[in-house]
Amino acid sequence: MEEAEPDQRGREVVQPAVNLPAALFTDQYGRRHRSLRISIIDKCQLRCTYCMPAQGLPWLPPAKLLRVAEISRLARIAHAGGVRDFRITGGEPLIRRDVCEIVREIATLGTAEDPIDLALTTNAVLLDKFAKDLKDAGLSRINVSLDTLRPERFKKLTLRDQLGRVFAGLASAKEVGLFPIKLNTLLMPGVNEDEILDLVDYARREGFELRFIEQMPLGNNPWNGSTIITQVEILEKIAEKHVLTEVPGRGSAPAATWYVDGGPQKIGVIASVTRPFCGGCDRLRLTADGMLRTCLFSDRETDLVTPLRSGASDLEIAQLMGLAVHEKEPGHLIGKAGFKLPKRGMSAIGG
Ligand code: SAM
Ligand code: SF4
Repeated sequence: MEEAEPDQRGREVVQPAVNLPAALFTDQYGRRHRSLRISIIDKCQLRCTYCMPAQGLPWLPPAKLLRVAEISRLARIAHAGGVRDFRITGGEPLIRRDVCEIVREIATLGTAEDPIDLALTTNAVLLDKFAKDLKDAGLSRINVSLDTLRPERFKKLTLRDQLGRVFAGLASAKEVGLFPIKLNTLLMPGVNEDEILDLVDYARREGFELRFIEQMPLGNNPWNGSTIITQVEILEKIAEKHVLTEVPGRGSAPAATWYVDGGPQKIGVIASVTRPFCGGCDRLRLTADGMLRTCLFSDRETDLVTPLRSGASDLEIAQLMGLAVHEKEPGHLIGKAGFKLPKRGMSAIGG
């Protein structure tokens, strides 16, 4: 029988009727999957040169995008299977006008006794318009991608003159309290690597948690193992000016973190290339057109949208998800023999 109980924000929600065994989302390497990244759109208004070509990509037709009720149902099934960590992403998720409705739906899955973490990753160009409504809808926190603090450089890097909008978005996020606000910075040699220390200072001043990302062979970049800025290089640069102390207890988090000068400021590095964290990976990804992926670097996709739109039960969909989890590869092969560039880029999978 379905039972109604109050969610984190005091509303009545119907709990999923389906009861799933904990083992369903545990793969053959013992990794239990607790995190789901949901891409709600593949389109973006920026053209970060490492992510997208200047002309954009062939966008999904609107009818192919999962609708709010479909996203909500898949999130509910994932929740029944043990997922507690939800990230909304894209493309650029704030381009979708119903983004707050999606947040509101997913937020109902958390209760005071069994909370969820619900975050959104954005380029922040439209964040000043959405911050309050996102907060009211139940968003826990926000991740903002910011690769440079210099307007001219931003324009060159994203092919759009929008850095002022990003700062306005960050100010709004602060004002409404979407904390912690995390900044994600992708460093590239000869492009923005000279801003490492400026970004650390900026994040400290603003109270943001800064994470540097190693560039991966995905999307529009002419990737070559020797053209990325590595975790070692990033830490060496920061250590020229600051004392770094590693924060213990990383768990399955993709970022390793360090206190800067004893804290409370922390910086992180997502070293997917030089320090892969596949062994502890607990992530699943849902593309905007309803495909479940278990790894950024595997082209294996499980079609959830067809069964969803042709009357499958929650249990049948959960079983398809469980099968995909069971078949998850042990890890990516970046830099090794046998590596193949995934067919979809980061913006089409969901970053
Ligand atoms: N548009 C939103 C944004 O930029 O935050 C969400 C989607 S974007 C694809 C998510 C993240 O993926 C961004 O932080 C971006 O820097 C990162 N990204 C894109 N291409 C990448 C690559 N080749 N390697 C590592 N990170 C990448
Ligand atoms: Fe858009 Fe994000 Fe890709 Fe930049 S990284 S082009 S903001 S999807």
